[in-house]
Amino acid sequence: MLARKTLHAHSRIWLRLNRPQSQSQTTTTRHPIRCSSTLVVPFTADRYHVRRENFAKVTADDAKVFREIVGDHGVITDAADLEGFNVDWLKICRGQSKVVLRPKTTQQVSDILRYCNDRKLAVCPQGGNTGLVGGSVPVFDEVVLSMGLMNRIVSLDPMSGVLITEAGAVLETLENYASERGRVVPLDLGAKGSCHIGGNVATNAGGLRLLRFGSLHSNVLGLETVLADGTILPFGSNMRKDNTGYHLHHLFIGSEGTLGVVTQVALLCPPKPTAVSVCYLGLNSFEDVLKCYKEAGDSLNDIISAFEFLDNSCYQVSCEKHKILPPLNPFPFYVLMEVSGWSPKAQSERLDSLLERLMSSGLVADGVVADEPSKIRTFWEIREGVAEALTRRGYVYKYDLSIPKREMYSLVKTSESVWAARSTSAAVTAIWVTNNLHLNVLTSDYFPEVTKRLEPYIFEWTSQHKGSVSAAHGLGFKKRNAIKYSQSPTAIALMKKLKQL
Ligand SMILES: Cc1cc2nc3c(=O)[nH]c(=O)nc-3n(C[C@H](O)[C@H](O)[C@H](O)COP(=O)(O)OP(=O)(O)OC[C@H]3O[C@@H](n4cnc5c(N)ncnc54)[C@H](O)[C@@H]3O)c2cc1C
Repeated sequence: MLARKTLHAHSRIWLRLNRPQSQSQTTTTRHPIRCSSTLVVPFTADRYHVRRENFAKVTADDAKVFREIVGDHGVITDAADLEGFNVDWLKICRGQSKVVLRPKTTQQVSDILRYCNDRKLAVCPQGGNTGLVGGSVPVFDEVVLSMGLMNRIVSLDPMSGVLITEAGAVLETLENYASERGRVVPLDLGAKGSCHIGGNVATNAGGLRLLRFGSLHSNVLGLETVLADGTILPFGSNMRKDNTGYHLHHLFIGSEGTLGVVTQVALLCPPKPTAVSVCYLGLNSFEDVLKCYKEAGDSLNDIISAFEFLDNSCYQVSCEKHKILPPLNPFPFYVLMEVSGWSPKAQSERLDSLLERLMSSGLVADGVVADEPSKIRTFWEIREGVAEALTRRGYVYKYDLSIPKREMYSLVKTSESVWAARSTSAAVTAIWVTNNLHLNVLTSDYFPEVTKRLEPYIFEWTSQHKGSVSAAHGLGFKKRNAIKYSQSPTAIALMKKLKQL
């Protein structure tokens, strides 16, 4: 049933969508994200002028040892098959690895790392290869350690909600598995059809549920990892409370493969909310977004599970790319807000009452609400599909920043003059509640002078405003030199020491 309410005072409407719309209905299935083999991406080493360090090169003898460890099927050397492992999701970075290894057990990971360490062969751990900072693919000819075959779900304890899984399990598979058992994986992101839980842990992925469930530091209760020299570091107790010494597993969360390889994860999966509503709101100014957030936070604090904003360019590009009928007419800004809990009626009433207030006060110009799962998926698909849609438009200079809320949009405005020199455009999304601004600057191709204009300007600005130059995506290859804008020299020195252990 389609419930429709008209607020005559402002001639605006908001809709509660329970009925599928024909055009968007066909777009809700998510497909794994794969690299196109037809696109030729320049080698990272050439594009970014980086020099190879003094690591050994893989020989025929090495390949023989690898086959002994993982079997013939676990070694990929065919040039065409290697391509997808060498090129990153954004199709910006391209390595030149000659061998991909696909272990099936922790012991095999250990044997590989021990051998490579002794032989001084560089290794690039790879999960679903959806990382956005060039860390998931080799820069030169590193051995790629692909975790895709270590994808077994070991157990889900119905009492505690603790899920034990191998690191190569795809996030969406875990989500479905947990959902069928009345639990929710406390992490959701646009790359869920391809990314691995091990990759999520390695990047400390934030995603769309962070507001409700906290970061992976709150939800990962334990890890099994393998250090660079092959030492296996087993799970600890996996209990929520365990103060016996250092919480070592936290060091690996967000370490991006620099400290070792994650092979198994113990993840706390909370009970699954039974009532979810998502609304899209159209707003005319950034000031209105700020006020809307304040109002929503005050009224729905206990049930809001997401609050994000997109600018019009992201919204339009994503709807167009994913063939989604835009739920709202064009506005300068959109807020995507989700509420979830276990009391559908009370929750709906509170949301409706807030929306009526926001619209009659003029803060929100228009809005639509979805309660039905397929509509909710479509709404999220617009947001989650932004990255992919932008990538298809040319070269994307991607900035994933933590910035105080009030300042978020002023960075976009003040830096416009910096990038306006080339024919560029900006597209912005933000995971609002976590202060995470995704600033995308688009050009037809990669121009080093645009990078020089944008960096260090954006990093310095962020640092001056006490933000972070990488809110969620990590440092990888592309942001490795920007760490100094967010970490002190003392902290960087300590990190280097930890890596040497
Ligand atoms: C469409 C899209 C949406 C995204 N949305 C978000 C978002 O909302 N929030 C967010 O935080 N990020 C987001 N990301 C980026 C995010 O970092 C990755 O999608 C994801 O967390 C990486 O997982 P992966 O398995 O693909 O890892 P990969 O990309 O393969 O690897 C990422 C890094 O982790 C290392 N690594 C991978 N697996 C392991 C392992 N088992 N052990 C040790 N190191 C390992 C790699 O060496 C690399 O440095 C998004 C990406 C895309 C493409």
